[in-house]
Amino acid sequence: KEWTDLNTLADEYFRLAYHGLRAKDKSFNAQMESNFDADLPKMEVVPQEFGRVLLNLMTNAFYAVNERNKKEEATYKPTVTVSTKKEGSKILISVKDNGVGIPDHIKEKIFQPFFTTKPTGSGTGLGLSLSYDIVKAHGGEIKLKSTQDLGTEFIIELPLNKA
Ligand code: ADP
Ligand code: MG
Repeated sequence: KEWTDLNTLADEYFRLAYHGLRAKDKSFNAQMESNFDADLPKMEVVPQEFGRVLLNLMTNAFYAVNERNKKEEATYKPTVTVSTKKEGSKILISVKDNGVGIPDHIKEKIFQPFFTTKPTGSGTGLGLSLSYDIVKAHGGEIKLKSTQDLGTEFIIELPLNKA
């Protein structure tokens, strides 16, 4: 583990996720917004593992806005927002999208390995189960808020390292 500035890590992976999708599909486009807490304390994490979690959540978010964008709603602006903040004894990292959302009957399944709603070849269904395990191994958890047709927010909660 290394003391890591999660704002910098999140910013790097946000660009990486976006450019990864753009490389596969030149017509892919989405608004990227970020809201980083300038006073966020450094956290002791494995940067590569934590980066994978961020990349998974962000790639899912971009996919979800891209899906909604295909519905051609008149005023729709595909947007993914990444934010960080310190709240009490926790650090929160949020990845929020205004994409297709997750239907209630599916919410309990999405963290299961191999569960995917994506067409064959587009998803392995391993991203969230792996992300969940990595965050758990860092003593944290992942919370989900989602409304079908409106969007989704995943919040990583990490306990501040006890001195
Ligand atoms: P994969 O991306 O390979 O499908 P994941 O474990 O990352 O696997 O996600 C599992 C499923 O959870 C997705 O197929 C999708 O149905 C749902 N999901 C995850 N993130 C989002 C999101 N931001 N918006 C809508 N659905 C999502
Ligand atoms: Mg995924």
